[in-house]
Amino acid sequence: MISVKNITKKYAKQAACDNVSLNVKPGEIGVLLGPNGAGKSTLIKSVCGLLKYDGEITVNGFNNRSIEAKRILGYVPEFPSLYPMLTVWEHLEFIARAYRLENWENFADELLLRFDMADKKKKLGKELSKGMQQKVSVCCALVTAPQAVVFDEPLVGLDPHGIRELKTVITDLKTEGKAILISTHMIESMEENWDITFIMKNGRIVREIRREDGLLSKLEDIYFSITESEGETGESK
Ligand code: ADP
Repeated sequence: MISVKNITKKYAKQAACDNVSLNVKPGEIGVLLGPNGAGKSTLIKSVCGLLKYDGEITVNGFNNRSIEAKRILGYVPEFPSLYPMLTVWEHLEFIARAYRLENWENFADELLLRFDMADKKKKLGKELSKGMQQKVSVCCALVTAPQAVVFDEPLVGLDPHGIRELKTVITDLKTEGKAILISTHMIESMEENWDITFIMKNGRIVREIRREDGLLSKLEDIYFSITESEGETGESK
């Protein structure tokens, strides 16, 4: 569903992503794990069509810059950027109109309820805390009922209730057959239900671990042996 082939993204001469490839299938949760500066956000933004890069990215077979791909891809950025003078509900309405959604209101209400935001519908963007903005951002990404969803450091800034709810929502998305790609520097954050973890270092995916490899209990050791080693790519595959 989310297919990344040989992506290279350079800032000046430095490659933030260096020949990166990955696949996340329908019903799978892929986690991009790596220290700060590993290239996770660059890759996530490339997948969402926000950066220029060399290589090919498709969503359900459609080039990620096509309308078809944008229609089925949801994106929750690391930093929510709401319109200060639009209410929570107007943000959802704005997305609904842009995507020409029909009968979206009940679903939008359900999403707000799940995230404890039902009583904040009339609040302006500028009146919301960082965590509330994050929740609105998640609701905006999900109201289109995307087939693939990309989350950039989604748990940062959420309160414990928000974290629990978002994890449940992500699990539900997986159960519904959506493809999920999540970037995080918190190893423990997604351990419940990830299917495939991509460990990034210096712009490269240096290790791919699938749940069925049975290495869940060793993930932390593997992560540190890779990210703390001196070499360009850490441990060999
Ligand atoms: P991560 O999300 O894993 O923390 P990033 O993708 O943000 O990593 O950054 C990867 C590398 O690219 C870092 O060395 C960072 O300094 C560099 N980088 C990211 N964005 C820019 C930018 N807009 N201009 C120049 N360098 C950048």
